[in-house]
Amino acid sequence: MYVQDTIVAPATPPGAGAVAIVRLSGPAAIRILRSIWHPLRTGELKPRSLVLGEIRDSDNNLAIDRALAVVMPGPRSLTGEDVAELHCHGGPFLVRRVVGLALDCGARVAEPGEFTRRAFLNGRIDLTAAEAIADLVNARGDSALRQALSHLNGALRLRVGGLREQLIAIAAHLEAEIDFSDEDIALPPRPEIARRISALRDDVAQLHQSFARGRLMRSGARAAIVGKPNSGKSSLLNALLGVERAIVTAIPGTTRDVIEETIHAGGYPLVLQDTAGVRTVADEVERIGIERTLVHAGEADLLLAVFDASAPLEPEDLSVLELCRDRAGVALLNKSDLPAQVDARELRARGLALPVLPVSALRGDGLDALRRELEAQIDALAGGHRGDGVAISRERHRDALARALEALEAARGSVVAAMPPEIVAVDIAIAAEALASISGAVSSEDVLDRIFRDFCIGK
Ligand code: GDP
Repeated sequence: MYVQDTIVAPATPPGAGAVAIVRLSGPAAIRILRSIWHPLRTGELKPRSLVLGEIRDSDNNLAIDRALAVVMPGPRSLTGEDVAELHCHGGPFLVRRVVGLALDCGARVAEPGEFTRRAFLNGRIDLTAAEAIADLVNARGDSALRQALSHLNGALRLRVGGLREQLIAIAAHLEAEIDFSDEDIALPPRPEIARRISALRDDVAQLHQSFARGRLMRSGARAAIVGKPNSGKSSLLNALLGVERAIVTAIPGTTRDVIEETIHAGGYPLVLQDTAGVRTVADEVERIGIERTLVHAGEADLLLAVFDASAPLEPEDLSVLELCRDRAGVALLNKSDLPAQVDARELRARGLALPVLPVSALRGDGLDALRRELEAQIDALAGGHRGDGVAISRERHRDALARALEALEAARGSVVAAMPPEIVAVDIAIAAEALASISGAVSSEDVLDRIFRDFCIGK
């Protein structure tokens, strides 16, 4: 086991609440808990049972709170070390005092993600499960929860483990070729090895391609609502949300900053960004807003380009049409409740390739068709299939699989070119190491720092 000092941190978020949990982990966790917390009735703390007691300041022996305590001795604990928790009342000052008492007894404040990092270092969880914990906490929708929980339960670890086993079997054949090359024993012929490497490469490629779906499940898709001021962007956002979130006014330029809201489309979260209108202005604040619009529009997966169909096109509409070039999304002819002055043909004539839908954000007309179109486009982003299989969700996974793919490609090339088995074995070893890095069987401090940096303190 990875032995080190004892850490302490609130496991609940800052601010006032009914209950706050202060968590300790390390060799002195139980001793420290016993020095600051005393059971109301004499009796032993039993592992994994909550017991009521008092937290006392050891300087003057005055009680500062009533709290439940629980101890979970290692190695069968969250971190693999002795873990102790105090469930006290949830006041920010109180929590600071309790943490302070633990520090006085020799604990140290935990770094962000340090509890989970210790769980990983002590072999309680692999990296895919550690990442899944962060994903569960940050989930924005059911698809993200489902995916995170499946990774926490080992789905990705097992899938990658299966691929590694196939690689190891191939490596074993190559070893046999190397060791017994002079002897007259039957080894699988080269074409058979090439076929197995190809099959494995296809399997790895399939998992690599699941990133589009996995990323959407984890973070959702982003759609930027763009259009000139007063075309009805905020009204559209409100209509899609069904609540008044963005400010709707008849004065052009009221949406100066980017407003984000999440809806669900096709089983994935869809983050809608209402941006500042696209127009040319002198006002500095508004100019910054418009610059942000362009950045958000550039980064979004989809564009919702809003045109006011009740008025002739203006130069700003032409800039919006320009933004839509080579992009996915939908163009909306808004204000369809008013007499039309612009139609889809005119937009097409000006080079628009996106599907065009008439809507009235004010009356809600056309919104069902818009939702269906968004669902279809998100399905296309996810690779055309909703799929139940395991999907990778992070760039770290995708990069590791890309390295494995490259090495498998090279290995297959060497087999086909009748290279010696030693040469093939090198690429097979690189592929195996790349796969192992996904679950953390091989990982550097840098990689661990990057992963656990995204956690908050107390996790
Ligand atoms: P934004 O500047 O593009 O965000 O536009 P807003 O959503 O603030 O809308 C500008 C004005 O257009 C407001 O007075 C809205 O009530 C009006 N508006 C928005 N959508 C429609 C619509 O579908 N029909 C009609 N008649 N008016 C609308």
